Amino acid sequence: MADHEPVIGIDLGTTNSVVALVQGGQPQVIKNRAGQLLTPSVVAVTSGGKRLVGHLAKRQAITNPENTVYASKRLIGRKFSSAQIQKAREVLPYHLLCGEHDDVRVQLGDRPVSLPEVSAAVLQELRKDAEAYLGRTVTKAVVTVPAYFNDGQRQATKDAGRIAGLDVLRIINEPTAAALAYGFARNVNGKIAVFDLGGGTLDVSVLDVSKGVFEVVSTGGDTYLGGEDFDNRIIEWLVMAFAKEHGVDLRKDRMALQRLKDAAERAKMELSTVQETAINLPFLYTPSGGTSALHLQASLTRAKLEELTRDLAERSVQIAEQVLAEAKVRAADLKEIVLVGGMTRMPLVHALVTRHFKEPSRGVHPEEVVALGAAIQADALLRPDSQVLLLDVTPQSLGVAIAGGYTRRLIGKNTTVPTSVTETFHTSRDGQTTVKIMVLQGESDLAHQNELLGEFILSGLRLATRGEVEIDVTFDINAEGIVSVSARDRETGLQQSIIVTASGGLTDTELKNILDDQADLLLEASASAEVLNKRTALESVAKEVEAMMPQVRQLTGNSEFGRDALRKAEAVLTSSKVALKSSDLILLADWVDQLEKTRTLFVGVLERLGARQQ
Ligand code: AMP
Repeated sequence: MADHEPVIGIDLGTTNSVVALVQGGQPQVIKNRAGQLLTPSVVAVTSGGKRLVGHLAKRQAITNPENTVYASKRLIGRKFSSAQIQKAREVLPYHLLCGEHDDVRVQLGDRPVSLPEVSAAVLQELRKDAEAYLGRTVTKAVVTVPAYFNDGQRQATKDAGRIAGLDVLRIINEPTAAALAYGFARNVNGKIAVFDLGGGTLDVSVLDVSKGVFEVVSTGGDTYLGGEDFDNRIIEWLVMAFAKEHGVDLRKDRMALQRLKDAAERAKMELSTVQETAINLPFLYTPSGGTSALHLQASLTRAKLEELTRDLAERSVQIAEQVLAEAKVRAADLKEIVLVGGMTRMPLVHALVTRHFKEPSRGVHPEEVVALGAAIQADALLRPDSQVLLLDVTPQSLGVAIAGGYTRRLIGKNTTVPTSVTETFHTSRDGQTTVKIMVLQGESDLAHQNELLGEFILSGLRLATRGEVEIDVTFDINAEGIVSVSARDRETGLQQSIIVTASGGLTDTELKNILDDQADLLLEASASAEVLNKRTALESVAKEVEAMMPQVRQLTGNSEFGRDALRKAEAVLTSSKVALKSSDLILLADWVDQLEKTRTLFVGVLERLGARQQ
């Protein structure tokens, strides 16, 4: 193999980050210069103005809480005014500020720093670790993000790479990376679920793995559910007990809060292996007026921890059940369930996953597997002969706001990327010469309940009566899940486009007000809602039938029945694709019907022949 410039794989975690590389065909984690596999995602500035990253930053957090930033991944790409950020401000010992575009900044030393800059500091540290290990320059990387990250958060992560001097060749989803690393080592074929509960986020994905092709079937999660929430429950419990005993609210003391956070996390981790642990924080609080310092002493049992956090653990498995349901996969159909993220070491989480799904796969290091997957993908990008193919999906539906305050969905949730969709809209008022394209992400039919990703204006349209001017709106999503949207006047060819960069965070009411103000500028979908619904149904059942074909082909072999069924299915699919362009409701319904029959036939074949083969 030619001596390519190395491409590293980076798991940029909420709590810890990891860098890995494929060497001699084998992925391996690179130790940092302190000899450890995990680098804390912590950045600090000392009183002397020195920047610290990783272990050095984490170690001094207690004495320098206001200038030590941790868990910043939970804040990246969000609006300062959003509810999550306002809530985070109450518990974080460092200061959050509002940037120029309602983005979040953190006060580090004497300067407000953007979140991509904070992530960049961590990425740069990992890059230096890789360079020290390899003895050569590294400028290229694959970086992972939670599958549920929206477009703004992905963009912000790419920006972070750029600031760190890294060309981010690809952003991939963490659970996909984990499945890649797991499947790569074991030559797995079949459905794999990845349950990733990390420091800040929960990510669940179902993948279909076959001969080096990793196809994500469904993905979901919660960007605000993770280890930090478990820690916060312990902190609240300690704060309450302290307030009861001493009448003091520790949350107002940033240094005490940082020590509590540290102790809470340590206790939580210890309780994964022991039944009871002591929390001792001497001199935690010094009252004003010269009275002697107060100490905190408590004992936390595993049972109490489980009582404090059971709802969080249960919520995580409920979300996983939902993702499986969307993938139309039963727990019994899963070949493997892979646990990722430090929080899955908690016995309660492990037990709930086992109870609801199956015994998780062994032999995986939950903290390393994502970086290893990123490294495998990095290696695959370098080598044209690579056998590894990743087919990821969009985590949420994407569409535009249309007249009446509705959403017209152009790309459904869990659509394989890259993808491109064009749909024709028309003006909603007489004499409308300007249209506004508001790009939305989310599952609601009501525009204001979704997230506004970005907006742009196309003006200079011909003066005409309502419905006469037609506009093609095109959504493109690249392999990294980054979205660009364009609108084109069909008559004049006039075009406007954006790469979606802004991220939501507007409240429902704010978005509703914006939509009301802009009502005159919105477009109308060119077909009735009924037609649109039928088209969506047709698209979705066609996708299912298409997805089943390779397996049916494999199972029926060369039999006449198989060949015949597949030939018919192909003909139905081809005709359905033509019918999709039509607005004839009866025609659309007919093809939905035909495809549903094919699907039933296929399901029967898969169940009968699949069972016989097992
Ligand atoms: P990650 O984002 O994957 O690095 O996960 C980090 C989260 O896992 C943090 O909230 C840690 O406190 C938590 N964690 C790490 N090890 C353990 C453990 N042994 N038991 C419980 N939680 C853990």
